[in-house]
Amino acid sequence: MTFPFHYRQLLHGGEQLCVEDLSLADLAERYATPTYVYSESYLRQRFHAFTHALGPQTTLCYAVKANANLSILNRLARWGAGFDIVSGGELARVLRAGGDPTRVVFSGVGKSRDEIRRALEAEIYCLNVESPAELARIEQVAAELGCRAPIAMRVNPDVEASTHPYIATGLRETKFGIPMAEAPLLYERAARSRHLEVLGVACHIGSQLLDLAPIAEAARRVVQLYEALGRQGIHLQHLDLGGGVGIRYHDEQAPTPADYAAILDAALGDLPVRRVVELGRALVGNAGALLTRVEYRKYNGNRAFCVVDAAMNDLLRPSLYGAWHEIWPLERRAAAQAPMDVVGPVCESGDFFAKARPLPADLREGEVLAILGAGAYGFAMSSQYNSRPRAAEILVHGTDARVIRRRETLGELWAAEEPCA
Ligand SMILES: *Cc1c(COP(=O)(O)O)cnc(C)c1O
Repeated sequence: MTFPFHYRQLLHGGEQLCVEDLSLADLAERYATPTYVYSESYLRQRFHAFTHALGPQTTLCYAVKANANLSILNRLARWGAGFDIVSGGELARVLRAGGDPTRVVFSGVGKSRDEIRRALEAEIYCLNVESPAELARIEQVAAELGCRAPIAMRVNPDVEASTHPYIATGLRETKFGIPMAEAPLLYERAARSRHLEVLGVACHIGSQLLDLAPIAEAARRVVQLYEALGRQGIHLQHLDLGGGVGIRYHDEQAPTPADYAAILDAALGDLPVRRVVELGRALVGNAGALLTRVEYRKYNGNRAFCVVDAAMNDLLRPSLYGAWHEIWPLERRAAAQAPMDVVGPVCESGDFFAKARPLPADLREGEVLAILGAGAYGFAMSSQYNSRPRAAEILVHGTDARVIRRRETLGELWAAEEPCA
């Protein structure tokens, strides 16, 4: 799989960072900064690498929350993806982008009545139930609509995934899922209901998992539940193993699609069930970069800062998780490097992209940097904090670049407000 961001020797002007066949400097000039840039070819390669490795018995549902841009969803829908959604807004996006509702699974601990109703009306494939109270509510809404709600229980397999605590979801004490031990009774209840159709079981233990052993362990526990339910006379048609496959941000060894497929095969063997997976980051994370321009260089005492025009409102991951993102100058040079903090203009000390990061000592005001690995949970988590209009998003394919979300205007900052209430 070829990483889409690479330096290329240009005829005049040294080595320039490109995405596919376009110079990022040209894109920054044309669309200004901060701007997200995504590689369509890389996204497509990742999607096909996973679907190919996982085989025809698996439905790959893209986790919309990683990057919900309509053009990203539309490409994935055309390539045959299903979708994992966590809100009514995401359902609306998937439908708007031409996604197939019969390939949609709905996760999340807090589905409202209205969200459940809209999911049932759209005839999505399955709702992943996260509590007995939610099961009762889904049953009631289905009864009101006179239909049967297709459901899977999202169980909490109680396995520890080594990742940041904010994105570990498979331990007993998190808010997610139904405790394994309580699942059989709940399945009994659901199986007797006229308004519920029991389809499967689901789990999702966390995100950015580099070690797949916990995913394998969770899958084995799900299989045990599947077998126990079979003995109770409840026969499931699918197992949803969630998402969470990690990617390389820095020097990590990320699992390959083949590694992932192999651990699922080992855990599931030849069970006669459909498999569903819910991948977000692994598909789109390394397809994207955030372009940002250097506003100032400054020194406080002996600490060097590089103040850029993007901030935590554009890309929250470093502030929220202390996450590492590669930061590359668009123009590669042999010059000496010096450690500097790359920070945004937002009024928070937590507003940084990197601390003491070696970057060219001669980095100039006005130069553009690319913050890599920004395709997942980048724009999707962005906000207008500090009244900063959200960045533009550009989708590149070969030599073609198109604006898939224009930069917000100042007027949009207050478009939903009453001017003089
Ligand atoms: C966030 C989430 C995913 C996707 O996680 P990635 O790490 O992006 O693959 C899948 N399933 C559920 C239920 C999620 O909440």
